[in-house]
Amino acid sequence: MILTLVVLACLGLCLGSFVNAVVWRTRQQSLVTSRQSSVKKTNSRRLSTEDSRLATKNNQLSILKGRSVCPNCLHELAPRDLIPVFSWLFLRGRCRYCHKPISKQYPIVELTMAAVFVSSYILWPQDFSGAGQWLLFSTWLATSVGLLALAVYDWRWLLLPNKVVYPTFLVAAAGRAIYIVGYAPDKLSALLNWAGAIAVTSGLFYLIYNLSDKYIGGGDITLGLVTGTILATPFKAVLMIFFASILGTLFALPGLISKSRGFQSKIPYGPFLIAATFIVLLFGPAITDWYEQLLT
Ligand SMILES: [Zn+2]
Repeated sequence: MILTLVVLACLGLCLGSFVNAVVWRTRQQSLVTSRQSSVKKTNSRRLSTEDSRLATKNNQLSILKGRSVCPNCLHELAPRDLIPVFSWLFLRGRCRYCHKPISKQYPIVELTMAAVFVSSYILWPQDFSGAGQWLLFSTWLATSVGLLALAVYDWRWLLLPNKVVYPTFLVAAAGRAIYIVGYAPDKLSALLNWAGAIAVTSGLFYLIYNLSDKYIGGGDITLGLVTGTILATPFKAVLMIFFASILGTLFALPGLISKSRGFQSKIPYGPFLIAATFIVLLFGPAITDWYEQLLT
């Protein structure tokens, strides 16, 4: 048990570091692409050296390949600079090469990923008796890596890039499909529940998106594919949206009261949907039991 927790914590820290890399590289890629297209639009013939440098950079910014660099001075990082959390603490939050501060986002994301991994194992609502539960558990861990990247990205730039959403959905869907084929006691109802969950998480946002003049972002619709697949029942999907609304309201309330934030100002909704998915996945059965007790 303790060994499992230590392994999960280490794995979480390393994958948290991967999340930071995915977020940074995805952001850089989108900046390069938008700069290239704006250069093309103005039909400027002087494609500056800066832009061609960025273009070659873009090829090096593949998410899975390429060495990690300092976001500020682009110096390649040595293995000793890449130890999650500890490198940041040891270097007192500064780059070894240019001495510019490194965002607190790096250690915070690494610690969050480790916390998600460890708490998911401790709080997992079913016991790990069969291979089916382990499959669902590891599918969730793999999916949570993509979800954390999306939460960070949406939090910072109010966007859920499809480049991250679709691979995350693929991971979640593959795990769910294998589970249904190999382990679900009632395959048809498992399939219908999965479809129903996505109808709630994606379908609802699709309606809001089209009826409300872009009150929410289109990314919330595609994110629904992931959260619906993870929750896999319409009831949990409804519960998740309920919790996400509460979390979002609690977050927006202080700004609304102090009038620093208007009703029209944008807040990222993705992080709340993702946090609510985590809550419902781990506490869903407990919440259901409690609710049924209230009724009887
Ligand atoms: Zn640097």
